[in-house]
Amino acid sequence: MQKYKLVCEKCGKEYGAEKIYTCSCSGRLEVSINIDAIEVSKEEIMGRRGNVLAKYFEFLPLLATSPKTLGEGYTPLMKSERLCEKLGLKNLYLKNETVNPTGSFKDRPIVVGANKAVEFGAEVLVSASSGNAATSLAAWCARFGLKCVTFVPVDAPKSKLAQLQMLGALVYRVVLHEKGKDPTAEMLAFCVRKFGWHPVPSFGSFNPYQIEGAKTVAYEIAEEIDADAVVVPVGGAGLLLGTLKGFKEYRELGWIEKEPIVHAVQSEGCAPLVRAWKERSEIRAWANPRTVAGGIADPYTWDGNAALKLMYRNGGTAVAVPDSLILEAQESLAKYAGIFAEPTGSASLAGIIALRDAGVIQSSDKVVCLVTGTGFKDLDIVVTRMPEVPVIEVGRGWI
Ligand SMILES: *Cc1c(COP(=O)(O)O)cnc(C)c1O
Repeated sequence: MQKYKLVCEKCGKEYGAEKIYTCSCSGRLEVSINIDAIEVSKEEIMGRRGNVLAKYFEFLPLLATSPKTLGEGYTPLMKSERLCEKLGLKNLYLKNETVNPTGSFKDRPIVVGANKAVEFGAEVLVSASSGNAATSLAAWCARFGLKCVTFVPVDAPKSKLAQLQMLGALVYRVVLHEKGKDPTAEMLAFCVRKFGWHPVPSFGSFNPYQIEGAKTVAYEIAEEIDADAVVVPVGGAGLLLGTLKGFKEYRELGWIEKEPIVHAVQSEGCAPLVRAWKERSEIRAWANPRTVAGGIADPYTWDGNAALKLMYRNGGTAVAVPDSLILEAQESLAKYAGIFAEPTGSASLAGIIALRDAGVIQSSDKVVCLVTGTGFKDLDIVVTRMPEVPVIEVGRGWI
């Protein structure tokens, strides 16, 4: 029995486990895991130790049985009483993705995409990213001896660029030449066509496999608590789609009774998915993305249409939050839960606050906040916001 198939979103053509990234019609492919072929039990999966790829092997589009990993996943799901009290929520849980090997959840999708590329015989892996997905890929390539080329937006924070350089990736900042287009994605597509490099971005239109890695965050949550809602920050929507797919698969297997409601959060300064959700329309590019949350400033939500289809079934809400609320959430995570997150990684908490105020989330709901990236990723923004530290001179009446 085949482990998975690929289905083209545009023309409906189906493929097996062959070496392919996009449909012959150039349409976006979606992996569909054959649920009927899964013979393990939930107990067996939960009892497995070792890396996430080995643990969830049956659910991932990988064929090699000894995948190469850096130790992704197995992140803590914690309740902070102090944060709960501050926000007036009784059951707020934080899924701390900042402790992944390179400090963001992107390690989950990238490890699947990279292993698949190696199965396909890759030597050069290429990424288009605002930073975190590229860092995941660069670290993985450094560890396993592959070449990594990354295209990042021209205004990516210096700290993210330095990480990439330190990890040995070839890094290029790409200038926007046409409003509403993503120049990094255009460069990626060009290099795939021209040089035959393997595309490993974190979104699905160029590579359908890594989205499957994002599912593991849903599995981990489902194994620990029976959540009412999970709130997800959205850039390219790979994480949103993966989370929705993960819960759906567990429900179809009867491993959970109900899927948590999955809510999507974007910044008001770049909210193409929220707009499409409100209008019940297709995703359109956002003309002028502007937000402190650089990791979700994607002008085009690549996996948005696919994610919206599942969202309408799941029943979640898409909400846009102002940057001021994102920065407030960043500070609350630090001061009340001890988690230092980047603004992008705090957007989900900002979304929870907005959804609480709108009455979508009730104070007794079991809510999971995905804290997706560490504050060390974007130190510039913290440094500029904090007040000057006082200087004291020993011996002048102080002690
Ligand atoms: C990329 C990223 C997101 C958004 O994930 P998408 O899959 O692009 O929607 C959220 N938080 C952080 C820290 C990220 O790096």
